[in-house]
Amino acid sequence: MSHPDNWTPRTGAALAAPAVILDLDGVIADTEHRQHFLAGSTNRDKDWAGFFNACADDPVIPAGKALAAAISADITVVVLTARIHEIREETIAWLDTNEIRHDWLIMRGPRGGGPSSDWKRTQLELLREFGADIRLTLDDDPRNIAMMLEMGLTAQYIHSGYYLDQSFDVEFR
Ligand SMILES: [Mg+2]
Repeated sequence: MSHPDNWTPRTGAALAAPAVILDLDGVIADTEHRQHFLAGSTNRDKDWAGFFNACADDPVIPAGKALAAAISADITVVVLTARIHEIREETIAWLDTNEIRHDWLIMRGPRGGGPSSDWKRTQLELLREFGADIRLTLDDDPRNIAMMLEMGLTAQYIHSGYYLDQSFDVEFR
């Protein structure tokens, strides 16, 4: 079974293995400087293109980078980000330049629309189909954490503060 086109292998580490799934923005990449593009109250008012196009300038979040580096070599590290396909090259370059330990990068494909949580859920389900034994997931979006817990995953919330001004009907169980 060949992997989906929107999955980019870096080391070629096996997918059918213990795995840790790391979110990128707000966990490893500091997007504070471009959050203002999303200040609009409705989706139409948000400048998503501006937000994504500024990604090359993201500082590294030192704790996120160190955490990725500390993961045992026999665990497959997957960076799972809802970043759009159009900034794939910039994202790969950023991960390489900043030496972020990972084996796979999963981003949205050319037609990967829809809410981030729904999209991430399908990718996590696919990873399981490929044999990934997902031991831990890290994310800074409360909606993603709720979805991951619902899937029966061990999910760790990382506080970026990017979602504080939004109210979600989210409950952690
Ligand atoms: Mg995030």
